[in-house]
Amino acid sequence: MNTTSTQRPPVIIIGAGPVGLCLALYLAQREVRTCLIERLDHQTFIDQEARAGSIHPATLEMLADLGLYERLERRGLLAPTFQYWDRETDHMFAEFDHALLDGDTRFPYVLQCERTKVIDEAMQVLQQTKFCDIRMSTEFLSFTQDDNGVEAVVTDNAGSEEHIRGSHIVSCEGGRSIVRKTLDIEFEGYTYPERTLTVAVNYDFAQAHGYSYRNYLSDPEQWSNLFKWTQPERWRVHFPTNIDDAPEKVLSDEHIEAQLQKFLPRDQPYEIVHRTLYTVHQRVAASFREGRAILAGDSAHINSPIGGMGMNSGIHDAVNLGEKLCGILSRQYEENTLDRYTRQRRHVAVNHTKLQTERNKKLLTEKDPAMRQRNHDHLRRTAGDAKLAREFLLRTSLINSVREAAAIE
Ligand SMILES: Cc1cc2nc3c(=O)[nH]c(=O)nc-3n(C[C@H](O)[C@H](O)[C@H](O)COP(=O)(O)OP(=O)(O)OC[C@H]3O[C@@H](n4cnc5c(N)ncnc54)[C@H](O)[C@@H]3O)c2cc1C
Repeated sequence: MNTTSTQRPPVIIIGAGPVGLCLALYLAQREVRTCLIERLDHQTFIDQEARAGSIHPATLEMLADLGLYERLERRGLLAPTFQYWDRETDHMFAEFDHALLDGDTRFPYVLQCERTKVIDEAMQVLQQTKFCDIRMSTEFLSFTQDDNGVEAVVTDNAGSEEHIRGSHIVSCEGGRSIVRKTLDIEFEGYTYPERTLTVAVNYDFAQAHGYSYRNYLSDPEQWSNLFKWTQPERWRVHFPTNIDDAPEKVLSDEHIEAQLQKFLPRDQPYEIVHRTLYTVHQRVAASFREGRAILAGDSAHINSPIGGMGMNSGIHDAVNLGEKLCGILSRQYEENTLDRYTRQRRHVAVNHTKLQTERNKKLLTEKDPAMRQRNHDHLRRTAGDAKLAREFLLRTSLINSVREAAAIE
C-alpha cells in the first residue's frame, strides 16, 4: 500500500521506546511519513536501564515482519521452556515447553532480549528509511487537534519551541503520557502498595541449581522470578519488598546479599551487577483514542511485569494501529476505524494482559497452604497434559490475544 503524499502532514509519534519505534517502522515500510519525538539524546538513549527482557512468540512474528528478528536473535538467548518452582520445598513442579506450539508459530520459544537492544536495533533500521523525521533531545509539551489534523508543541535543548503539524498524534510516551492527561482519559486501576526489587547477578543459576532460563517461584513470604538475560552469566531476580522499609535499606549491599543467600545459599558472596526498585501498577486507559489522538503501549496500559507482557502487548498495539492508520491515510478506511483499534486492543489489555499478570501474581504469592497446593497441582496437571499445556502456552505466548483481537469488529 503506497500512501505517500507530498502534501500530507506526518503522523506525529511521541516517544522512541519499543512501541513508538515499531509503529514508526511499520509505517515507514508502507511509505507513510512520521515525525518521532524523543526527549533523550543519542547517548542517554543507548545507556538506558534494560527493563523488559522477554519477547514472546506472537511478538517475534511481528518483529520478523518489521525486519528486526534476526538482529535481535543475534543479541539474545532462546528460551524454549519455562518452569514453576515451589520455594518452600525447593522443587520444580511444572515445566512448559514451547515446542508444543510448533504448528502455531514460526518461533516456538521466548527470546530473552532486553528492551535496550530492541530500541537500539529498531532505531538503526528506522534511520535507514527516509520516511521518519527523528527528533532526539526534543521534549513534547502539549498538543491541540481539529477536524483536519493535530499540532504538537515541542522544545529542544536550547529551549526554543516549535509547532509541528501532523495528521494524527500517537502517544508512545510511557505511563505518564501527557496526551492521555490532556484528553482527561481516566487511567483506571490500582497501584500495588509494595515495590519490587530487581537485581542483576553474575552467577550461573542453571549450573548451580538446575533452573531453566525462565523461572517463576511461588512462596507465601518471598515470591520471585528468575531469568537468564545475556551471555556471559547475567541473571535477573525479582523480590517483593516490605512496604515500611526505606529504599536505601532495600537497595543496600547487605539487604540484597541476604535476599540472595536466602534464595540460594552459597559459601561466597554474590556479584551484584545492577539493582532497581520499582512501583508496579495495573492500569488501563478508559479509551485509547479521542479524535486524532491515540494512545499505545504503556501510555494506554501498564501492568505487573510478572509474565513479561508490557513491552510485548505494546508492540502488538503498534502493529494493530499501524495497519489502521495506513488504511485511513490511503482513504481505504474511515477515520472511525480507530475505534476498532480501541475495542481490539483494550479488550486485550483488560482480558489478557491485566488478567494474566494478576493471576500470575496471585499464583506466586498465595498464602493459604491448601490453596497453594491446589494451584500447584492444577499447574502440574496442565503441564503434564499436552492438550492443556498447548492451550496454556497459547495464552502465555500471546498468540490467543492476537487471534481474539482480530475477531473483534
Ligand atoms: C523492571 C521492569 C521490567 C520489565 N520487564 C518486562 C518484560 O520482561 N517484558 C515486557 O514485555 N515488559 C516488561 N516491562 C515493561 C516494559 O518495559 C514497558 O511495557 C515498555 O517499555 C513500554 O514501552 P513504551 O514504548 O510504551 O514506553 P517506554 O518504553 O516507557 O518508552 C517511552 C519513551 O517516550 C519518551 N518520552 C516520554 N515522555 C516524553 C516527552 N514528553 N517528550 C519526548 N519523549 C518522551 C521516553 O524517553 C521513552 O523513550 C518491564 C518494566 C519494568 C519497569
